[in-house]
Amino acid sequence: MIKLKIIKTNLNRIGSLKWGNKPNKIIIHHPQFYGGVEELNNLMINMGYSMIGYNYYIRKDGSLWEGRLVEAIGANCYGQNSRSIGVCFEGDYDNDRTMPKAQLNSGIELIKYLMKKYSIEEVEGHRAYYNTSCPGRYFPLEELLNGVKEHSYISIDGGAYSNYKGMPALNLIIRDYSKDILRVFAWVDSDKKASWAFDIKPPNSNYTRLFKNINKVINTRNGGFTFSKGAYYKIKAKGYNDMGRVVAENQIVLKVLD
Ligand SMILES: [Zn+2]
Repeated sequence: MIKLKIIKTNLNRIGSLKWGNKPNKIIIHHPQFYGGVEELNNLMINMGYSMIGYNYYIRKDGSLWEGRLVEAIGANCYGQNSRSIGVCFEGDYDNDRTMPKAQLNSGIELIKYLMKKYSIEEVEGHRAYYNTSCPGRYFPLEELLNGVKEHSYISIDGGAYSNYKGMPALNLIIRDYSKDILRVFAWVDSDKKASWAFDIKPPNSNYTRLFKNINKVINTRNGGFTFSKGAYYKIKAKGYNDMGRVVAENQIVLKVLD
């Protein structure tokens, strides 16, 4: 499960909220506004709303902020406020021609998380439901929608040697991985010193360059022990995206031959 950092807020509110939102879709917006969630909330109060109408707000720096609680009836899209989650991206994408990668990636991760949490499959821009240009003509909606539909994965394989440079050894092969994965760490279940590190741009010599069908043999463990002939080893692999978050996991059991 991906860990998301959603920043809790304690926003001003005028009057009380109505409860009973049953979201079956996620609607994407831009506020045509630059600034923090508290300022945006105050702006919406001044416009006559009881508080911010969106449920989540994503700043240009990628930080994720809580808006109106999802359980409350929203104020993000006419006709959809009792069955939607509104996700709003800071900026004015009728004028901002590019979206910072941090904001786009945070948006993709948040929406994937919400889709899973609320069993939602429908994700659209505001303009799909209402006569508006929102989330803006330059908003990278197609990239966002492709990103949330893409399933993150690592596919691994491997083998074992009873004698590799004089010692038993395990060979891990990274067969394939989704394109959001930039780094893979793998280790023997009970033994973190027996590990593999792959990266598409290896930062140092401990890493092996990550590409499809790459393999790496290891025969070192804790305290100079070697792997044992005839034994089984469980290898766990995790794939990390460019924000350093785990987006995919896999495992394999390898047996060292007698
Ligand atoms: Zn909108």
